[in-house]
Amino acid sequence: MAVYLHEEDLPEGVLAPGPVAVDTETMGLITPRDRLCLVQISDGRGDEHLVRFAPGSAFAAPNLKAALADPARIKLFHFARFDLAAIEHYLGVTAAPVFCTKIASKLVRTYTDRHGLKDLVRELLGKELSKQQQSSDWGGADLSEAQREYAASDVRHLHAMHAILVARLEREGRTALAQACFDFLPARARLDLAGWPDKDIFSHES
Ligand code: MN
Repeated sequence: MAVYLHEEDLPEGVLAPGPVAVDTETMGLITPRDRLCLVQISDGRGDEHLVRFAPGSAFAAPNLKAALADPARIKLFHFARFDLAAIEHYLGVTAAPVFCTKIASKLVRTYTDRHGLKDLVRELLGKELSKQQQSSDWGGADLSEAQREYAASDVRHLHAMHAILVARLEREGRTALAQACFDFLPARARLDLAGWPDKDIFSHES
């Protein structure tokens, strides 16, 4: 089990087949303004790969893009909407098909309104996740040991939670509804990018 830091792309052949857990770190929450600094990806077998993009990057990254756009690979995210927008805007690919642990959590854990990654990891896996580096500067030339560990830990538990949430969705009869929500996520991310970030277009309100 190790954390690997790569510059500008993933090396070829480091991911086993099957679902991959994905997360991104950016300069902030406004995607077109706040550049993509890091993409974390893991095949769930114990290693996490961090792909760092320098300021002014051309975002070529053919190996990373191929993995993200692979229709045979499910991409596991926590709050996919944000990551899909960043990936689409900077890398130009749609990271689908998607499973979002936050949406799955909202559909099955209706007994709580705590759907953050930390809360979910604590309840489903009984582990404590540190969120200390969440709002740190991801744009520098060097990432600290604490930043690398934080970035890696954001994808470390998604496979285990995916398995549990798939079973919970099945138990509650919400698998098809969840899938329909996941399938809509790339379009939801595009609405964010196209100027409807705060609008619920399904709402009766204008
Ligand atoms: Mn993260």
